[in-house]
Amino acid sequence: MGTPFAELLELAGGMRGGRKLKGCIPGGSSMPVLPGEVMMNTSMDYDSIAKAGSMLGSGAVIIMDETTCMVKALERLAYFYYEESCGQCTPCREGTGWLYRIINRIEHGKGRQEDLDLLDNLADNIQGRTICALGDAAAMPVRAMLKHFRDEFTYHIEYKKCMV
Ligand code: SF4
Repeated sequence: MGTPFAELLELAGGMRGGRKLKGCIPGGSSMPVLPGEVMMNTSMDYDSIAKAGSMLGSGAVIIMDETTCMVKALERLAYFYYEESCGQCTPCREGTGWLYRIINRIEHGKGRQEDLDLLDNLADNIQGRTICALGDAAAMPVRAMLKHFRDEFTYHIEYKKCMV
């Protein structure tokens, strides 16, 4: 607790193949992703991570290098929460499926520019409106990915392929 993230990364062996850190989810898949340069100047404690815009959550650190497609990464996360939804409340039951299907079509070159605002809107309508925390867990990664890596989603939609 309190270890600078850059130090933790070195202790874990550093970036594979000397690649650049693109993004990091500091507290498990449900927490907001942060850009690599933000993480490299952050310490692993509650206050510092909160100030940077995320949370320590489960403490599972997910590292993504410059070869990671953020659209593909978010598609996998969205599918997980879609599968895990128990279906008890409507925003989560319906919303997680919508999130996954929209991200899936962007990933497969069938996205539309208006999909990005639609994803933000959907996440807004899920977060804080469900019985358990799974709804928030599904919404937060979507909002953070669009906030920090929106250009990748736009590129996917415009060119129907990945920029990395
Ligand atoms: S938020 Fe929780 S209770 Fe509601 S449908 Fe999702 S998993 Fe079930």
